[in-house]
Amino acid sequence: MPVETMIAPEVRARYEVVIGLEVHVQLLTQSKIFCACSTRFGAPPNSNTCPVCLGLPGALPVLNRDAVTMAIKAALGLNCTVNPYSRFARKNYFYPDLPKGYQISQYDQPLAEHGWLEIELDGVRKQIGVTRVHLEEDAGKSLHEGFADSDRVSYIDLNRSGVPLIEIVSEPDLRSPEESYAYLTELKTIMLYLEVSDCNMEEGSLRCDANVSVRPRGAEKFGTKTEVKNVNSFRFIQRALAYEIDRQIEIVEDGGHVQQETRLWDSREQRTYAMRTKEHAHDYRYFPEPDLPPLVVPDAWLEEVRRSLPELPQAKEDRFIREYRLPKQDAALLVTSRAQADYFEEVAKLCGEPKSAANWILNDLPFALDQHGKTFSKDTVPAANLAELVTEVVKGTITGKIGKDVLSEMVGNGTSALEVIAAKGLAQISDPEKIAQTAREIVAANPKQVEQYRSGKTATLGWFVGQVMKATRGQANAQVVQEVLKRELGGS
Ligand code: ADP
Ligand code: ZN
Ligand code: MG
Repeated sequence: MPVETMIAPEVRARYEVVIGLEVHVQLLTQSKIFCACSTRFGAPPNSNTCPVCLGLPGALPVLNRDAVTMAIKAALGLNCTVNPYSRFARKNYFYPDLPKGYQISQYDQPLAEHGWLEIELDGVRKQIGVTRVHLEEDAGKSLHEGFADSDRVSYIDLNRSGVPLIEIVSEPDLRSPEESYAYLTELKTIMLYLEVSDCNMEEGSLRCDANVSVRPRGAEKFGTKTEVKNVNSFRFIQRALAYEIDRQIEIVEDGGHVQQETRLWDSREQRTYAMRTKEHAHDYRYFPEPDLPPLVVPDAWLEEVRRSLPELPQAKEDRFIREYRLPKQDAALLVTSRAQADYFEEVAKLCGEPKSAANWILNDLPFALDQHGKTFSKDTVPAANLAELVTEVVKGTITGKIGKDVLSEMVGNGTSALEVIAAKGLAQISDPEKIAQTAREIVAANPKQVEQYRSGKTATLGWFVGQVMKATRGQANAQVVQEVLKRELGGS
């Protein structure tokens, strides 16, 4: 951790860290949660607005069914119980980008509760409780320009006002910044698998507030927590938490008390600083939203969404290990993206060589893509083409080393493996007669090495193999080369 700290490890070891995360995820609906305005990111400011999301008096919200379906999907993906009956509530506060003066959210009767997700750190799996998943609308965005008092201007863009969000609140089950990082990564992967959000942090479709406290190891009561807001990457959240933990331990070590407050992370200074004292639920004067009926989710709807759930990453990883006999490491890496996992399965089935397919997809393909400045997509190298390459290498038509060059060519030109092999005459030479010809020339040209070999320095054979490989541009079958050379060199 790049956190500057004076805290000795043995002091830190006396404390237990407690972390709970509140994550906002923007749902991928076409229109907003309570009106028909578009949710498209990057539209001209205030162009995606109407009386409802501008908060004009008299406008009435109508709930977007797709938003609820996606929220249910997310909740089920997090193993939550979906409540057949939930309610929207007004959360009142003043902010310039909140035109109604309240946000429609859910409070005492949320859509879903009592879930969990599993993280894995150093080979150990741990369940982290998900307290609740509720639906709410996003606020608008304030943009600030200028620094000097005279030219400071603020703008308000209400395109985001009314965009559907889910808030996912974790139990205080996380015990380190690393566990928090793992939780966020797993959460994001699940949301991407479910296709309910693009989870793009730069565009604000995934935002995280981190609550953290420390307590002396063995203490029963939690310490006072602080909340860190405004952190725009998982790595920064991990760092902000590490910083905050040390800051709190220092306060407690000095006999002080941690102030319950909201703090901001400054990534340039790599520290947090106080923003405001913590607000409490009663500050928001929550009350049931009178303009919306209760949200009723009948069993049939719930079951329909349940049936639409894809296989989730952890289950896929376990299945890859079982079904394809993959090492755990490979399976875990393959399932980090659903597109990559699907691609692997296609290639593995086509070539019947799952372990080789995994190696090519995890190591050689990214390298080849990188050479051409491309990123993974299932169409860059169609699964059938990669399967063909794997097959040719396994069959011995080409060596693995040449296979890498062939793959690079395939990425660059969109050609198939066999096309590249034929066009470039790259097929492996396994014919002993052809190899013997080259071997004889090399033996004849290097009497000194022949002498060494014949006088018992058999390691010289490796040198001869290298020479033949070089002469055949690496296309000779190494095993045949060895056999032929032994015969040609005779002796020992
Ligand atoms: P508040 O009422 O202050 O909003 P909540 O009980 O709603 O607090 O919890 C908000 C988040 O903070 C949850 O993710 C929860 O797990 C976490 N949390 C609660 N208490 C603590 C604590 N003492 N230390 C760290 N995290 C906590
Ligand atoms: Zn609108
Ligand atoms: Mg709360």
